[in-house]
Amino acid sequence: MKIHEYQAKKILSEFGVAVQEGIVANSAAEAEAAFTKLGVPTAVVKAQVHAGGRGKGGGVKLVKSAQEANSVSATILSRPLVTHQTGPQGVPVHKVLVCAAVDIAKEYYLGMVLDRSLGLVLMASAEGGVEIEEVAQKSPEKILKETVDVRYGLLPFQARRMAMQLGFAENELDIVVKTMQGITQAFIAYDCSLVEINPFVRTKDGKIMAIDAKILFDDNADFRHPVYEELRDNSEVNEAEIRAAKSKLSYIKLDGNIGCMVNGAGLAMSTMDIIKRAGGEPANFLDVGGGVQQDQVIEAFRIIVSDPHVEAILVNIFGGIAKCDLIAQGIVNAVKEMGLKHPLVVRLEGTNMEMGMKILSSSGLKIDTATGMADAAQKVVAAAKAKK
Ligand code: GDP
Ligand code: MG
Repeated sequence: MKIHEYQAKKILSEFGVAVQEGIVANSAAEAEAAFTKLGVPTAVVKAQVHAGGRGKGGGVKLVKSAQEANSVSATILSRPLVTHQTGPQGVPVHKVLVCAAVDIAKEYYLGMVLDRSLGLVLMASAEGGVEIEEVAQKSPEKILKETVDVRYGLLPFQARRMAMQLGFAENELDIVVKTMQGITQAFIAYDCSLVEINPFVRTKDGKIMAIDAKILFDDNADFRHPVYEELRDNSEVNEAEIRAAKSKLSYIKLDGNIGCMVNGAGLAMSTMDIIKRAGGEPANFLDVGGGVQQDQVIEAFRIIVSDPHVEAILVNIFGGIAKCDLIAQGIVNAVKEMGLKHPLVVRLEGTNMEMGMKILSSSGLKIDTATGMADAAQKVVAAAKAKK
């Protein structure tokens, strides 16, 4: 789960990280008032969206007066922001963060991720500001790493060693160490999957602070963090994906025309592969889960057909915990409820498969059955092509 920069900065500051001062604004008028309240000669207006690359995309602008804060915010709030991470349609901007601008002397990168084979990994680079992926690719030696044992946290000597390697002066070590420890504590306390400060800066007047902040939460931990719900902003998430999450279905919209309903993430991925191999393009990833119920099958169908790009549907189910006859009945009920506008190919395998097949064939509905995944993929791809 993603949160906004202003939320991430608030969390980091709770853990002792010095962050650039800023005020959130929901409108151009609020941004104007925020500028006045900050009382600085220059502020920076920043679009609050769940995507990076805002600077290059025109979502981060310096302003020198309250009026300018108003007009620049009005423009940023008026249209979707397109960055290299959003896709060409961009994402809507509902809030801006108005920050007291600083004169940057040097930009650094600090980040923490979970490496399942090592533990937590703190990364740092003196090549900050730019995209860290680019640094990682072109000059990986410029990224420093420290592995952190979650039982002890980041040890002071590790943080000092890294700060010195980054070139910080003796009198700056304490604040850098405190920042690195703050990142680690926030990461553990909030069950994050990523904490990133890019850029972490030294200003021309010698201050050290976080200018940007990005935090991702590990969705698997949501049951023990009610605060995730408070911080959640679904305005950039596809509507069908929100609906699917409510029914505990894992759905991700893709660009193709073959709707897929599968149980199990591994089977869902291999189903997408085999559709591609048969010359087709999946319209979605949809894992209905191992213990799928009939009403989830129906909701899954509704979600698939709500995508106007879908031209044929493939149901690929391995009956283990879920029984094929129950799934088949769910499919029949769904088709009866919604009608069948698209060719539908069903492959069932596993527990009660014969019963399931019988339910499909005696339903009187035009459902094409397949034996094996390759057969299913070829049939559904052919059906989608025949429609054109
Ligand atoms: P991102 O592009 O989405 O990662 O957004 P950032 O918050 O990192 O801002 C992009 C860039 O804007 C930063 O790398 C800085 O170079 C610049 N920037 C942000 N805030 C300030 C500021 O207060 N003063 C100056 N001079 N530049 C800033
Ligand atoms: Mg940044």
